[in-house]
Amino acid sequence: MVQSDQHRAPPSPWASSNGFPFDAVAVTCLYDYDVLVIGAGHAGVEAACAAARLGARTALLTTNCDTVGQMSCNPAIGGVGKAQLVREVDALGGIMGRAIDATGIQFRVLNRSKGPAMHGPRAQADKRLYQMEVKRLVEETPGLDLRQETVEDLLVEPTAGDAWRITGVRVRGDAVYRAAAVVLTTGTFLQAIMHTGEATTSGGRAGEGTTAGVSRALGRLGLRIERFKTGTPCRLSAMGVDFSQLEVQPGDADPQPFSFLTPRIDQEQMVCWITRTTAAIHALIRANLHRAPMFTGQIESRGPRYCPSIEDKVVRFADKESHQLFLEPEGRRTRELYVNGISTSLPRDVQDEMVRLVPGLERARIMRYGYAVEYDYCPPDQLTATLESKRIARLFCAGQINGTTGYEEAAAQGLLAGANAALAVAGRDGLVLERQESYIGVLVDDLVTRGVDEPYRMFTSRAEHRLALRHDNADRRLTPLAVRLGLAAGERAERLAAKTATLDATLAVLAAHRVGGVTLADLLKRPEVSWADCVAALPALGDVPRDVAVQIENDIRYAGYLALERERIERQQRLAQRVIPAGFDYGRVRHLRAEAREQLDRIRPRTLGQAGRVSGITPADLALVLVHLPRSDAGGPAAE
Ligand code: FAD
Repeated sequence: MVQSDQHRAPPSPWASSNGFPFDAVAVTCLYDYDVLVIGAGHAGVEAACAAARLGARTALLTTNCDTVGQMSCNPAIGGVGKAQLVREVDALGGIMGRAIDATGIQFRVLNRSKGPAMHGPRAQADKRLYQMEVKRLVEETPGLDLRQETVEDLLVEPTAGDAWRITGVRVRGDAVYRAAAVVLTTGTFLQAIMHTGEATTSGGRAGEGTTAGVSRALGRLGLRIERFKTGTPCRLSAMGVDFSQLEVQPGDADPQPFSFLTPRIDQEQMVCWITRTTAAIHALIRANLHRAPMFTGQIESRGPRYCPSIEDKVVRFADKESHQLFLEPEGRRTRELYVNGISTSLPRDVQDEMVRLVPGLERARIMRYGYAVEYDYCPPDQLTATLESKRIARLFCAGQINGTTGYEEAAAQGLLAGANAALAVAGRDGLVLERQESYIGVLVDDLVTRGVDEPYRMFTSRAEHRLALRHDNADRRLTPLAVRLGLAAGERAERLAAKTATLDATLAVLAAHRVGGVTLADLLKRPEVSWADCVAALPALGDVPRDVAVQIENDIRYAGYLALERERIERQQRLAQRVIPAGFDYGRVRHLRAEAREQLDRIRPRTLGQAGRVSGITPADLALVLVHLPRSDAGGPAAE
């Protein structure tokens, strides 16, 4: 950190977001950095580490250094669609995979019975240890300072028209941090209100405050702000639970790591338990809907449709007699249990009664009541594909502030935004990940092109190239890019090189060794033949590391489908990659519908492919735009 000019006001023409000359504010201290990251949640820690890995002098400012990497809700990482994001973050040098590998207490691959593209590795975390591990990884990142500060205003200078450039932030206590780029990752904390029944409290997470200043600043600078809500279940003490009535859910016998740097998971696994809601519970909920903030109109904003509260489930799936509940330990050294499946904002007395009616929980006691939280977010169609604000230059946004939900979605955006902040400061080209190379590309493209009308979470179905975007090959897809950029180095690059060499050598052996006249490579294409059968035929294959064997098995089995998918993608790509020049005048496109012109002008897609995904844009609109694209822009990757 460079701390300069202490106790001296910075020069004009700086302005705080309310337009006052900045030197009207009494500044107590002034600090200079290249990149500032605001908020040390799942997005912020990845953003800060990525910026620092790229050589930017970075400060991570957060309200409380004891809540770095805090899991606000479920103490688990991964799952279907989300695990792919974690593996990609790891392949790009991120920290989430390493943190969960070190602190996971139960590892399971979800969807094992489906094809590998649908597999979803998931791990329960020791919540406290996870957070401490993330904090340690942040603390040990060279070039990165973690500082306990609450940001109250954004500092900007005017640029052309009514646009701005970010120049720094003001924190509580009137100290100022100047920087060439700022990444905002303030999560659910913007003007947040928590609801438990009729009771409302201001706060972005139980026991923590809210952030009004940042929200106000964004609004004053002309950004659209909207509201979403999310909820969390109650937590119980395990002391009163009758485990004999519950079904045990063990972890996998062969726990799989998330990070490509973790050779194996050695720690002992814990079990989780399963129970169910009953008709009596549903009746209780129905009888108390008039006290549920979502149904009384007390909460008006939209929540995650795919992660409904228990009151939502009872109303929406009225014919279902019972819903599964998972009891998940919050750690090895606590008896606190997370009740997955019963997210609620019903009043405390209803929550107490509800728990008493669950088989096995009759004598269990609530430690923390469930609640819902309503918060401001900044609709992400106001960002470019590098996650930079279209209106405030060098201001990047990532995580829940962009209308997403989930730790993994936040981490993925954080890494990209942090990297782009550092690249921008260094005057280098921005990093844009494409839909066909990563789930991160799908996530960001969906956000900036379509915007969101409910909290966005990742699903495999969102990725049209999902056969190619498996979690097992994330390192081969992304680590070479990360090494070229400087986001990853050393051990990661060496491991990938070693893996690729073993892979090539093993493929050569499979192509050469025959059983009954058929090569092992061809045999492995048959669904009834497994890797274990190959090892039985050629025992030397038993020495091939597990990750390489999995990769080969998946590559060979999917080869036919992948070839078809590639052909289709290439066809689409040729057209989709046509670049739309930055200042393209849609007014010149004759016969383009007024609605399409307005939409395209607002989103300003970089390519014809992105234009095609803008809501309301038809193939006919695209054909008209295509005719007006300059020929010299044909083909070639889109530059940001
Ligand atoms: P966060 O993890 O919220 O981190 C934001 C950070 O910014 C915090 O450290 C905060 O202290 C800091 N900060 C805020 N304002 C300032 C400021 N002005 N100055 C400095 N620091 C600041 N996700 C799901 O996938 N499923 C769920 O069911 C689910 N339920 C949830 C329930 C609740 C009650 C909450 C609160 C969250 C829930 N989430 C859920 C969301 C999940 O927690 C978030 O998606 C994820 O944490 C977002 O990461 P983030 O980094 O964007 O923000």
